[in-house]
Amino acid sequence: MRDSSPLPPMSTGDWPVMKPGWVWLCGAGPGDPGLLTLHALNALRQADKVIYDALVDPSILAWAPQAEHVYAGKRGGKPSALQRDISLQLVEMARAGYRVLRLKGGDPFVFGRGGEEAQTLVQHGIPIRIVPGISAGIGGLAYAGIPVTHRDVNQSVTFVTGHDQSGQTPGTLDWQAISRGSQVIVIYMGMKHIRQIAQALIAAGRAPDEPVSVVTSATTPDQSVLETSLAACEDDITAAGLEPPAIICVGRSVLMRQVLDWQAMAQGAAPRDLDPLGRGRPAESA
Ligand code: SAH
Repeated sequence: MRDSSPLPPMSTGDWPVMKPGWVWLCGAGPGDPGLLTLHALNALRQADKVIYDALVDPSILAWAPQAEHVYAGKRGGKPSALQRDISLQLVEMARAGYRVLRLKGGDPFVFGRGGEEAQTLVQHGIPIRIVPGISAGIGGLAYAGIPVTHRDVNQSVTFVTGHDQSGQTPGTLDWQAISRGSQVIVIYMGMKHIRQIAQALIAAGRAPDEPVSVVTSATTPDQSVLETSLAACEDDITAAGLEPPAIICVGRSVLMRQVLDWQAMAQGAAPRDLDPLGRGRPAESA
C-alpha cells in the first residue's frame, strides 16, 4: 500500500447524519466487505441498532461496535408473516427513538423485499433513507470474471428470481419471452428449481449447450464457480455438491471468464483463451 495514513473520518463534512427515529435501508453488497459503499460505512458508524440478514458478512458488523446487532435472517420459503414481523420491529425501534440501520445483502431493492419494508415504514410515518448496494447478480459475476453485459454478447440482461413467495418456480414468469428477449439471464435463488428453469429455457428455444455458470458464495473466501451448460447444469450442480447462495448466469458472456478470470490470474494461472468469443480481432477494434 502506497499511503498508509489513516482515512479521513467519515462522519464529518457533508456525510449524511443518521437522526434518531430514522431507518436507513442499506445494501451490504454480496459478501466481500470491501464492496460496501461509503454511505453504508457511514451508516454503520452511527447506528444504534443494526438489523442484518443471513447474507450479510458478519465481519461487516465490526464497523458498528457501538450498535446492537439484531439477526433477522430467514430462509427461502418461510411464511411471509416473518417478513411482516421484521418490518414492524423496524417501526418499533424507530418509534423508540433509535437510529436504525436495516442492512441487507446485495442491494436492498433487488429481490430483497426492501421495497416492502420501506413501504411499511413510510405507511407508519417513519422517515427513511435508501442506500443502494452492489447486487450479487452484477458484482458476484464480476468476481467470477463474467461481465454482465458485453458488447459482443448482449444488449440486454434479465434478472430473474428462481422462486416466488410460495417457494415455487415463479409461474408468472414468461420463459418464452425471457428466452427470446434477453441473451443473458441472471437467476437469483435458482438452485432449488434449476431443473425446471433449465428445461423451460430449452423448451423456449435456448440451445442445450448454451454456457451456464453457477457462482456460489460469490465474493467471499468460499466462492466457487462452476462452468456448465443448460442441459448439464442440474447434474453438474448435484455432482459438485453446490449449495446456495448462488447466482446462475445463462448466456455466452460466461465464456468471457476464459480470458477474465482475474482471481485465477492473480494466483498465477494463464488465461485459458484470449479470444473466447472467437472474434478473431483485438477487443478494442471496431
Ligand atoms: N438483495 C440481494 C439478493 C437477495 S435474494 C442482492 O442484491 O444481491 C438472495 C439471493 O441472492 C440468493 O439466493 C442468491 O441467488 C443471491 N446471492 C446473494 N448473495 C450472494 C453471493 N454472495 N453469492 C451468490 N449468490 C448470492
